[in-house]
Amino acid sequence: MRTLAIVGSGPAGFYTAEGALKAFGDDVRIDILDRLPTPYGLIRAGVAPDHQSIKAVSRRYDQVATDPRVRFLGHVSVGEDVSVEELTGLYDDVVLAVGAPEDRSLGVPGSDLRGVMGSAAFVGWYNGHPAFKDLDPPLDAEAVVVVGNGNVAIDCARILAKTVAELQDSDIVNHALDPLSRSSVKRVHILGRRGPHQASFTLKEVGELGELDRATPLVRAEDFPPAEADAALETGQRRVVEVLRKFAAAGPDAAKPVTVSLDFFHRPLRVLGEDRVTGLEVMKTRLDEAGQAVDTGETGVIPCGLVVAAIGYRTAPIPGVPFDERAGRFVNRDGSIAPGLWCVGWARRGPSGTIGTNRQDGFSLVERIAATSPAGGKAGREGLDALLAARKVAIASFEDWQKIDALEIARARAGAPREKIVALDEMRSVFVG
Ligand code: NAP
Repeated sequence: MRTLAIVGSGPAGFYTAEGALKAFGDDVRIDILDRLPTPYGLIRAGVAPDHQSIKAVSRRYDQVATDPRVRFLGHVSVGEDVSVEELTGLYDDVVLAVGAPEDRSLGVPGSDLRGVMGSAAFVGWYNGHPAFKDLDPPLDAEAVVVVGNGNVAIDCARILAKTVAELQDSDIVNHALDPLSRSSVKRVHILGRRGPHQASFTLKEVGELGELDRATPLVRAEDFPPAEADAALETGQRRVVEVLRKFAAAGPDAAKPVTVSLDFFHRPLRVLGEDRVTGLEVMKTRLDEAGQAVDTGETGVIPCGLVVAAIGYRTAPIPGVPFDERAGRFVNRDGSIAPGLWCVGWARRGPSGTIGTNRQDGFSLVERIAATSPAGGKAGREGLDALLAARKVAIASFEDWQKIDALEIARARAGAPREKIVALDEMRSVFVG
């Protein structure tokens, strides 16, 4: 019997489990561990609450979690409740599928002022991640700057720009919807250090900016290279640029009171303010021959009361696992960290790609495990159970999660799929006897 522990129950973890079930058949037992009592990682806490169709992929993960060869052990923190060394002693293979939940620092003076936060925190707040329930982002100023030109920046901007009616049928938590309903925000700036050709947006996300009830995109024609240059772009990027050009040609819709301004060719220099953010000093940039941003020397200030840095994520280090500080992920070769210890998904390759990218990642990791890692002989789940029981760790099983799920669905506001439980203590009351 092959024993496999997967740490992290987001897409990479579940696809790895699915791949292992297919590859090893009846000859495998899989334990999926998560530090939260709730499964699905980024699907629950990262994917935007108004993108419910993407979140529906969790139903596929449920099939894996309820397979008799698989167990979900929530509320078990690897590195605290049990070490990686202990896990590798207990299981034939241990796969770290812990994602990249930490914000990369903006790294400019003033980044520690109240009102400056990373997108992991901001997204975690509106998505009801227990760690960020008390974030309380200031929404009393008229302007917000979201730094970064990726889909996460668009997610943050869109949530800030939408009306309550537009968010009503999402699973945004009430502790975010209430303050957003009273928000004074009239201008959301999406700050990109490079131009439209270099933006990391995808078509659907950019298109949505043109379909908002009270908000309108503002894109400046002078930020584009000559139209002929678009021909050199690959198809996906060309379509994104086409939409951006349409926004620029149309100009903002004067009937809409909120603008989402795509401020290309600017990078943050300094956050201004005494005890809280009052503005962001920015440097105008241009592209060098290599397509990288270089300073022009021209600076300006965007007055704002909130700065969200959506500039990418880092994996959280785990004691005993070699970590590449610069890249912000585990040191690994094709997913292999050490004999019997692997990583997959964002923890392997960094925070890029779609949810589906992790399927390919998980399945190919299983192929490598099957080809190189011998099975058998280790204590597996009985060993872990004994260790966690001795440490009095309260485990949330998949059935416990299903109880939490039912409670969340039962208390949803009208039209919403659920109202998430955000306090760990409240979740614990479901599974701690
Ligand atoms: P991303 O796509 O890598 O974008 C990060 C952005 O931050 C880039 O525009 C980058 O600019 C900029 N940046 C990095 N460091 C910066 C700095 N110091 N100052 C200013 N700008 C800086 O990352 P992401 O938006 O966090 O998304 C992560 C992954 O999740 C992506 O693959 C994304 O597509 C995916 N995602 C998908 C969806 C969806 O499909 N709906 C939603 C959310 C996220 P440069 O390019 O100049 O480095």
